[in-house]
Order: sequence, then structure tokens, then C-alpha cells
Amino acid sequence: MLAGISKLFYPSSCLLCGVLASSGLCAACAAELPENRCACSRCALPLYGTENEICGRCLKKPPAFDAAWSPFIYAQPLEWMISQLKFNAKLLQANVLAELMMNRLPALSGIPDCIMPVPLHPQRLRQRGFNQSVELARPLARAQHVPLDVSSCRRLRATPPQTGMTASQRRRNLRGAFEFPNEQNYAHVVLFDDVMTTGATLNELARLLKRQGVHRVEVWSLARAQRNNKKYD
Ligand SMILES: [Zn+2]
Ligand SMILES: [Zn+2]
Repeated sequence: MLAGISKLFYPSSCLLCGVLASSGLCAACAAELPENRCACSRCALPLYGTENEICGRCLKKPPAFDAAWSPFIYAQPLEWMISQLKFNAKLLQANVLAELMMNRLPALSGIPDCIMPVPLHPQRLRQRGFNQSVELARPLARAQHVPLDVSSCRRLRATPPQTGMTASQRRRNLRGAFEFPNEQNYAHVVLFDDVMTTGATLNELARLLKRQGVHRVEVWSLARAQRNNKKYD
């Protein structure tokens, strides 16, 4: 019966190469995933070959969030898997990707009051039919016995894509884009995004949460883009 249940959630062949695999990815393809093992503890930026725990930018100008965790680097084959989830509504990919995250969860610094996926604008949500960050965060929240909050934070305006914008243009672009009244009096929140690029959106959200009385804001994402990759935000 268990085998029957897992068939409901997982494809029986590897999503990447097609060989028989029970967990969505075969061992060989799973071993090829770009892990983000050595990263800035504040913003999850991959740090290659340095002994520092914090990147130069966070040392100079720390973000509004307190810590960030992103188990993978945004590179192939994850780029392909995430775009399949996002644009082709291959929701099966969400279970496989969420399980990859679950297997790598770090020790938590206190139990968060909730996991809060970055909201999409209602119009975008209607077009796409789902929020990929919600689909990824849901199994994680369930496994951690932490509530998934998809309603307290609302996106008030659809912001134009931020590709090519300077830091101050991004800030202006995001100003007043979200609303969060903190009616639940949260003190510790995990913000969740599928891909973290510059972190401008997450930084803006963290600033808003802190203004509304949240003491600790952590950011979790599946994949962290390196600074020269501006395809996502
Ligand atoms: Zn494979
Ligand atoms: Zn950093």
C-alpha cells in the first residue's frame, strides 16, 4: 500500500534522465545537483574558497533579514526543474524539489511561528493558477509542524520585472508593494521564495515584517542565484 501511495506523489522514473527511480531523481542525477555548501550565513550567497562566514556586502550593509538558507545554487539542472514547475505547472516537481530541501534542513534556531511564502499578486496568481513558492513550502511546513501562512501578507501591486534595475530603482519599484498587519503577533517568521536573486524583494518584506513587530526574520529559498545571474527576482 505504501508503494501505491508514493506512486501518487512521485513519478516512477527520474525527472532528468528517465531511468527508473522511486524518489523522482535517480542517485546519479541527484549527485549532480549544484549544492550551495559554502555560503554567507546572512544572505546565502555562495562563497567560493573563502573562510569567511559573511560576504563582503553583508558586512558593509546587512540586510533586514537575520539569516538566509538556500541549499542549492541556481544553476542547471535546477533552473530547468524550477522553470518546469513555474511555467509548465509540473506540480510533481514541487514534491521532488521540496524533498531535496527537507533532506538538507539546517538545525533551526528556535521554532518559527510560521513559514510565509512570498505572495504573488492576485492577478498573477489567477494567470498561473498556483504560487510555486507555496507549493514548495507546503511540504516543508508540514514536516516541521509549523503553520504555513499564505494569507496575512498580501501583494498590493504587481511590480514590473526588476532585471537591469539598480538597487535604488528596485527599492522604489517595491515600495508599498506589500501589506502585512501582523494580526497574529508573530515574533519569528520564515519567508520563503523559490529562487533568491538579489534579495531585494525579500529584503523589502523583511523590513515590513520588522516594522510590524516581528523580531526575527529568516529567509529560505530552494536556490540562490550568483550575483551575475539576473534572470530571476
Ligand atoms: Zn536521473
Ligand atoms: Zn551575504
